[in-house]
Amino acid sequence: MEKKVGVYICQGCGIGDALDVEALKSVATDEFDVAVCKSHECLCHKPGIELIKNDIKSDGVNVVVIAACSPRVMYDVFDFGSDKIVERVNLREQVVWSHPPQDEDTQMLAEDQLRMGLAKAAEVELPEPFVAEDLSKKILVVGGGLTGMVAAREAARAGYDVVLVEKEPELGGYLRKIYKLPPATPPYEKPEDVKLDEFVSEITSLDKVTVYTNATVASIEGAPCMFDAIIVQGSKEIKERVGAIVLATGAVPYDASKLEHLGFGKYSDVVTIQQVEEMFLSGEVKRPSNGQPVNSVAFILCAGSRDPEHLPYCSSSCCVEVLKQVSYFKENNPDCTVYVFYKDLRATGVYELFYKHLQKQKVFFIKGDVTGIEDDGSGNLVLTAEDNLTRSPIMTEAVDLVVLATGMVPTTAFGEPYKAPTSEEGEEVEEVPPDTILVSNLLNLKYRQGPEIPALKYGFPDSNFICFPYESRRTGIYPAGSVRSPMDYVRAIDDAAGAAMKAIQCVELTSQGKAVHPRAGDTSFPEFFMQRCTQCKRCTEECPFGAINEDEKGNPLPNPTRCRRCGVCMGACPERIISFKNYSVGMIGNMIKVINVPDEYEEKPRILVLACENDAYPALDMAGLRRLQYNPWVRVIPLRCLGSMNIIWIADALSKGIDGILLLGCKYGDDYQCHFIKGSELANVRMSKIKETLDRLVLESERVRVEEVSITDYHKLPKILDEFAEKLEELGPNPYKGF
Ligand code: SF4
Ligand code: SF4
Repeated sequence: MEKKVGVYICQGCGIGDALDVEALKSVATDEFDVAVCKSHECLCHKPGIELIKNDIKSDGVNVVVIAACSPRVMYDVFDFGSDKIVERVNLREQVVWSHPPQDEDTQMLAEDQLRMGLAKAAEVELPEPFVAEDLSKKILVVGGGLTGMVAAREAARAGYDVVLVEKEPELGGYLRKIYKLPPATPPYEKPEDVKLDEFVSEITSLDKVTVYTNATVASIEGAPCMFDAIIVQGSKEIKERVGAIVLATGAVPYDASKLEHLGFGKYSDVVTIQQVEEMFLSGEVKRPSNGQPVNSVAFILCAGSRDPEHLPYCSSSCCVEVLKQVSYFKENNPDCTVYVFYKDLRATGVYELFYKHLQKQKVFFIKGDVTGIEDDGSGNLVLTAEDNLTRSPIMTEAVDLVVLATGMVPTTAFGEPYKAPTSEEGEEVEEVPPDTILVSNLLNLKYRQGPEIPALKYGFPDSNFICFPYESRRTGIYPAGSVRSPMDYVRAIDDAAGAAMKAIQCVELTSQGKAVHPRAGDTSFPEFFMQRCTQCKRCTEECPFGAINEDEKGNPLPNPTRCRRCGVCMGACPERIISFKNYSVGMIGNMIKVINVPDEYEEKPRILVLACENDAYPALDMAGLRRLQYNPWVRVIPLRCLGSMNIIWIADALSKGIDGILLLGCKYGDDYQCHFIKGSELANVRMSKIKETLDRLVLESERVRVEEVSITDYHKLPKILDEFAEKLEELGPNPYKGF
């Protein structure tokens, strides 16, 4: 595409009052090849937009550089069609709203911002969307329990074909094993019938849903809109091409045999909540030891849960399950004596009404830790406990049955230990707590990175993305229900609908060649200049989403529809042969090159800020919105993710005389907030390489700093930037200035 660049400088929102706009225009026209350069008092209003549209029409402008507000706002207003390149220069939030007006340093900052935007515009090409061949919008749901059935129903109702795979002979999952559900209708005092048969026939009668029972997934290969799943049903192999996958394989109860200290295995009258459901479902409500009726029962909540020795987390549903079972026993025998020992009784929302109702039924709710269970000599059980409210020891009367409320363990938590990817030097690039991150054999993905979705702590394949629930580390695969996180029936229903919607979003956007999340709508994808590839495998290993397979020679085999466009591979590639049409090593390098670096006598140091566009860049905008003022030496370049940072930019910037570099990324570690999981962590890992660069240039290590910021940390930014500037002043100017 032959480029014709039009530059449009807005004078609204205080820009015109704070800056010398004519001088800015001269920067554009004198230093760059631009066809048109105009200013306008309010570019986003109709006359401003018309001005640009006229130039597009009459002068053939096809690259529009808007020097105005942040690129995070008005993107729809400044959209001139998919055949036009639009580059935004942030003069408002990050220049005039965060720096004093009519000031030499503010003007220099604005001019550099414009230079960087124009340098980028000169390099950017229009992305051509990757459109999958033989694409499918069918949704595969693995697991036919409550979550799987709801996900299948919701996707089918939205008009999508669904394949539902269940390993058991019938749909229903855990619902088949329970007597009743917690109350869901006013006055929320009575457990409700399960009505499973009605639900199952609703699912099986949906034309758009194909159900395979007694079936498992033997393998899945491919990528969103092009997944090829092999489903095995008896001796039959069924091949299905699907667009997205909902993983709804649920959880299993914690192994009660590990709870010997609570009497399980020692006394046959110590049972689990699952066994109580079986008793009521079968109508055989008897003591296992002697077949006598149950006239007294003690429940122990958090049996093994919220306990570092067993399950350190709360399983979120057991409290309400126990309340439900208390009401079973009371209904069965109103005189039944019931004790409930709890750490906290987490009955939220309408369940509070259920709890209050049961408090009136002569149930002993005791906030306390059970310290012992003994046979009283007659076969009955006596519990001793520490009452946490009165701080006194207590002892129950002898009871017929003790029920342990065991927690849930995700079905993904069984299998081989998850192996962390390794760096070029063989070091693990992410920290994996021993025995906590595991993979299973539910999906059998044919991915270079392993057969299952990597899980977080405790084996849940949740994303930990506060902004993106249902995400996993495998694009197009959405865990839902208790496999994703401990949850009760109501939340599982919501979760199923949410995951179905994500799967639909995935197939719709992927079929148009667009990224799904977090860069929703982005049509760029990484391109590899394979002639120079050394098969080092850095890209395949560091891609957080397993988007790149490799052939037997180690050549990367990218799967564009798995890609989330983070650029981590671009940052990892030592040969710098991975680029996007609108984001590349050269592009950012050129932005750095055009920053005007005054010589050391001018006492105007320069700080390059490479800011993650997901949190750090918006935080800088927020600082501007609140008119927080910070050092004017900073020159901010947004990165898709700090993990896309290539070391060459640091070397280039330092060799050019830039005094310091600040890398602003998201929080990393177990409770990371990085939208690309480990991008900011990788940037930190690469700091050792940065140190080599600094040593080679004989520069102080303090000249490069990494800071973790979330969007809500905007108020901390002025201090971070100002302190860094002070530090650089102490160090003195970069000796490479002027070279
Ligand atoms: S851009 Fe990100 S998701 Fe895509 S291949 Fe590269 S590292 Fe993987
Ligand atoms: S990181 Fe670059 S050189 Fe290494 S395998 Fe990937 S594309 Fe090839």
